[in-house]
Amino acid sequence: MSFPKVGATAFGYEIARQFDINVLKTRPSLVPLRFADSNHAALSGLATETIARCGAQEFRENILFTHRGLSGPAVLQISNYRNPRQAVVFDLLPDTDVRELLETNRDANRKIKNLLSSYLPQRLVNEILPGPASDLSLGNAPVEVLEQVANLFNSWEVKFSDTEGWHKAEVTLGGVDTDELSSKTMESKKVPGLYFIGEVVDVTGWQGGYNFQWAWSRGFACGQSV
Ligand SMILES: Cc1cc2nc3c(=O)[nH]c(=O)nc-3n(C[C@H](O)[C@H](O)[C@H](O)COP(=O)(O)OP(=O)(O)OC[C@H]3O[C@@H](n4cnc5c(N)ncnc54)[C@H](O)[C@@H]3O)c2cc1C
Repeated sequence: MSFPKVGATAFGYEIARQFDINVLKTRPSLVPLRFADSNHAALSGLATETIARCGAQEFRENILFTHRGLSGPAVLQISNYRNPRQAVVFDLLPDTDVRELLETNRDANRKIKNLLSSYLPQRLVNEILPGPASDLSLGNAPVEVLEQVANLFNSWEVKFSDTEGWHKAEVTLGGVDTDELSSKTMESKKVPGLYFIGEVVDVTGWQGGYNFQWAWSRGFACGQSV
């Protein structure tokens, strides 16, 4: 289903259903995501290294702001694991304990935003920092504000409403149920002579060649059998 402009269609799923073979719900993945309730269009084009977390899964890679949401390798990878009802949490300063950084500079006569701008692009700091904290100096900021700021930058919670859809997705989550297939040959257990390999099967890998590897190695295994 993903990337229809290169010729992808639902043909494989239709064949499976025609033979009463179970197909698990499909959805676009390795795909950019759209913000649910925030608009950071001003940051469009900006990239920064983060750790993206969702449940037990995390990826340390770049994120890229788009007009409507986020893309970049960290977001594509986490899209494979995203539960649509759950926020994705980004550590915008993966090597820095922001609470400690703010505390260490507590006496300095320096604004919070200026300190953070020496670690991150200023546009990003201005966009993420809550209004009241923006102009406070580190010396005057109440502890609760420092905690709030630290939390925002080390654990930026983002809710996404949707993905950018099939035309931007590199892979399809879901597909032909692996329980229906021989793991040695990929032949259907119900329909001798019918094989499913590659993307159409309910197997999805990370970015970085795992999906090609799956498609090619299953093609080889199937080829040995036919
Ligand atoms: C933009 C993009 C980037 C990607 N980057 C990576 C990456 O870096 N690493 C990675 O591992 N994976 C990547 N993938 C995923 C990877 O391309 C797929 O997982 C892989 O190509 C799946 O191989 P496949 O042979 O199962 O299906 P496909 O490559 O989709 O091949 C299916 C073929 O069947 C043809 N076809 C469709 N219907 C019919 C029909 N009725 N009759 C005859 N032929 C038909 C289609 O035209 C197509 O050529 C990327 C995908 C996209 C879209």
